[in-house]
Amino acid sequence: MAATETVIKPDHAGVRKHFIFTDEHQALRESIRNFAVKELAPHAEEWEETTFPDSVFRRMGELGFLGLDKPEEYGGQGGDYYSALVLAEEIGNANSGGLAMGVAVQTDMAMPPILAFGTEEQKQAWAAPAIAGTAILSIGITEPDAGSDVAGIKTRAVVDPAHPDEYVINGSKTYITNGHRAHAIVLVTKTDPDAGYDGFTLFLVPMDTPGVIREKRLKKLGMHASDTALLAFQDVRVPASAVLGQIGKGFYHIMWELQGERLIGAAGAVAGAQHVFDRTLQYATERRAFGRPIGHFQVIRHKFAEMATKIETARQMVYTTAWRFQNGEYPVREITMAKLYSARIAVEVADECIQIHGGAGYMQEYGIERSWRDLRLNRIGAGTDEIMLDVIGRSYGL
Ligand SMILES: Cc1cc2nc3c(=O)[nH]c(=O)nc-3n(C[C@H](O)[C@H](O)[C@H](O)COP(=O)(O)OP(=O)(O)OC[C@H]3O[C@@H](n4cnc5c(N)ncnc54)[C@H](O)[C@@H]3O)c2cc1C
Repeated sequence: MAATETVIKPDHAGVRKHFIFTDEHQALRESIRNFAVKELAPHAEEWEETTFPDSVFRRMGELGFLGLDKPEEYGGQGGDYYSALVLAEEIGNANSGGLAMGVAVQTDMAMPPILAFGTEEQKQAWAAPAIAGTAILSIGITEPDAGSDVAGIKTRAVVDPAHPDEYVINGSKTYITNGHRAHAIVLVTKTDPDAGYDGFTLFLVPMDTPGVIREKRLKKLGMHASDTALLAFQDVRVPASAVLGQIGKGFYHIMWELQGERLIGAAGAVAGAQHVFDRTLQYATERRAFGRPIGHFQVIRHKFAEMATKIETARQMVYTTAWRFQNGEYPVREITMAKLYSARIAVEVADECIQIHGGAGYMQEYGIERSWRDLRLNRIGAGTDEIMLDVIGRSYGL
């Protein structure tokens, strides 16, 4: 028999589209990437000083990017969850962690509870303009005295006995992303402090309601392009129609919301890690020491191999979990694992990338230190590593 003419050679470096994505997702990927590179990235440095402008929301609304997986009846594209993943990944090309976070709060944190639990009026009033980019949303869970311990919040909503169809809200929220610019907030309150987990209620509160005070713009380690607010609620009077979802079921509603927040956060962390990896790979081929590119030292080569393996592992966790999510499962353990692992490896990768850059990694002009500062949030925001470990451990009945 004649020997075959084609010799099958091992494919070491082929770029493969993951099977959850279609050609349409790839086209979307390219259009978001182009937008991020051309319209956002050139301003990334400036926005570290000023925070990114509200016009970014309007522009993204015009382009349809704020409602990719949202229902068409509210102006969304009606796409699947994978299109939301594509946005979370490609917005990283804006080179601005703060911008990516501000957008994710809009699309994957504040909007989902409105669409899932809101009345038709609430969806028309807030989800539709949020998808159009004309309204900006925030979500208020954390308080000065309660972060991980969501059940420990003190913000109270009380029915006014003189006006039984009105609630009066008092309390404060902190570290609220988009808090200064937002037009509305999804607010977690306690309506019945004696009812345990059945004593919480969500409200959808317009930020121009009298008594809502944007107290302080908080300074932080990274994510400088985002705005982070300390908010006070002083005798904020809202109609009963501002209740979001079921009275007394707010704790369960917000735990549901947190799953989507964590999964999209995990996708963003992986994308952030990939981004800093790519830039560092480029640097390692250009920077020379002892007569060769530094990437050709075995030690450095192995650092890249370790990082790439971790990034790929995290990505597979995110994609597999996203597949479950898309197919109607509610995989809390897997989401928590994906969030924990992605956050950890993103910080490890960014740290190693500083090391590979040497002194340049410590300098602002290379942007690597900024990636490290921005990515560091992933181990805290949307639930800390310790809380993720606890959720995973408890899922085994411990
Ligand atoms: C930049 C930024 C943006 C944010 N955006 C928002 C937002 O838009 N909306 C919002 O509501 N929140 C937001 N947050 C808040 C964030 O979700 C909380 O910071 C986070 O959940 C941790 O809460 P905490 O800061 O109160 O820490 P704490 O709960 O005080 O925790 C302090 C330490 O104790 C550990 N710890 C606590 N409980 C346990 C336990 N049971 N077992 C073991 N260890 C434990 C924690 O892991 C942590 O290491 C943001 C935070 C930051 C920094």
